[in-house]
Amino acid sequence: MLISHWHATLDRPPLPTIDPPATAEVVVVGAGVVGAATALWLARAGLQPLVIDRQGPAAGATGNNGGLLSAGLAENYLAATARHGHEAARELYALSLAGQRLLVELIEQERIDCDLRLHGNVNIAIGEAQLSIAAATVSALQADGFPAALLDRAATQEMVGIPLGAAVTGARLNPAAGTLHSAKLVHGLLAAAHRYGARFSWGITVQSIASDAGRLRLLTDRGAISAAAAVIAVNAWSGEIVPELAQRIKLVRGQALCTVPVEPFIACGFGASLTPTGEYGQQLPGGQVLFGGCRAVAPDHDVGALPGEVSPEVQNAIEASLGRLFPTLAGIAIERRWSGAMAFTADYLPIVANPAPGLFAVGGFSGHGMPFAAIVGRHLAEAVQTGTMPAALALLGMERVTLV
Ligand SMILES: Cc1cc2nc3c(=O)[nH]c(=O)nc-3n(C[C@H](O)[C@H](O)[C@H](O)COP(=O)(O)OP(=O)(O)OC[C@H]3O[C@@H](n4cnc5c(N)ncnc54)[C@H](O)[C@@H]3O)c2cc1C
Repeated sequence: MLISHWHATLDRPPLPTIDPPATAEVVVVGAGVVGAATALWLARAGLQPLVIDRQGPAAGATGNNGGLLSAGLAENYLAATARHGHEAARELYALSLAGQRLLVELIEQERIDCDLRLHGNVNIAIGEAQLSIAAATVSALQADGFPAALLDRAATQEMVGIPLGAAVTGARLNPAAGTLHSAKLVHGLLAAAHRYGARFSWGITVQSIASDAGRLRLLTDRGAISAAAAVIAVNAWSGEIVPELAQRIKLVRGQALCTVPVEPFIACGFGASLTPTGEYGQQLPGGQVLFGGCRAVAPDHDVGALPGEVSPEVQNAIEASLGRLFPTLAGIAIERRWSGAMAFTADYLPIVANPAPGLFAVGGFSGHGMPFAAIVGRHLAEAVQTGTMPAALALLGMERVTLV
């Protein structure tokens, strides 16, 4: 079985679990980074949430991702501005920036040891056309007051201790970014939530949810749970239990690998667009290079493909792309390969929905959920207490026109 670097190196004791109770005040379904952050905010508010997951902590996208915590949107800022309009794009970017900072604050406040390194992220440009887009993006971000800088090839090379590929022309630096160990992060968020009273049940699949006499009835494969409120944070699988999201969120497989260790050569996270769907990576504290992406070379871009498996065409493209960025890494031995389930929407923004009284659902992070987790979780925890959709997340509503 394929196992991600994060799960293979999670040296933490298991969290205490309970058998699923018949009643709970608040249930959080999904123990990825979003469910874990939401549970922490709920527990801090004294609500003693029950967190359930059909597998366990970080079993979905979170535990199989690239570990990049970068402020910004899944889509380039210029493209997001064209799609949503300037004011909305600015508000969305500000939300992600606040979210990135809030997650760092949570990590510090709860003393979560998750290898957090705040060294920024470089989006490496290939050729002159990509460098022009990077320059325009940096100008637009700076004009709106967001941190960003343009690096020429020489400045980019200064950040990288091995030779850059011949086609590299420069990079866009995002200083509001970092890297971390995704499974340690989720474990730490849940452990903190437990200290405030959260309880956990793993190996429980929610099959459906219905309103029942002013409460919610969550039907699971191990009996029903009656709850006053629930937050559904199952991302790629949202449509299985929230029918309103079935047509709006689609599962897309993302593949990654990590190499054997090499001498430290880069401190920040990095990304590129050598293939149309892009690549991303980081050098891990142990020296391995985690690198992923390239799903554009897969049939139908790996939309709907089985997570947990990898395919030779995408894995070969990831290895080739790594060699094009950093030629001395061409042909390096691979330590581990894995994949996970991303959740895409038509406009690359997550959806926050309130399909029934007391029921809130969130998903569709389009491969970029880490900077949103803490802030969306905080607003959802408030929504559970007020019973209304948070105004701060209005742009992520299910009825927005850009979703079709
Ligand atoms: C290969 C890859 C690389 C990525 N790289 C990055 C990156 O570097 N930076 C970044 O910001 N984002 C990245 N992403 C995206 C990011 O990981 C996600 O946006 C984020 O983790 C979503 O978190 P989540 O908690 O919403 O969902 P998930 O982490 O997917 O958690 C959902 C949970 O719900 C559970 N579940 C599902 N159905 C049910 C059910 N019926 N009943 C009970 N439980 C259920 C699952 O077991 C799972 O644990 C990447 C994703 C992938 C796959």
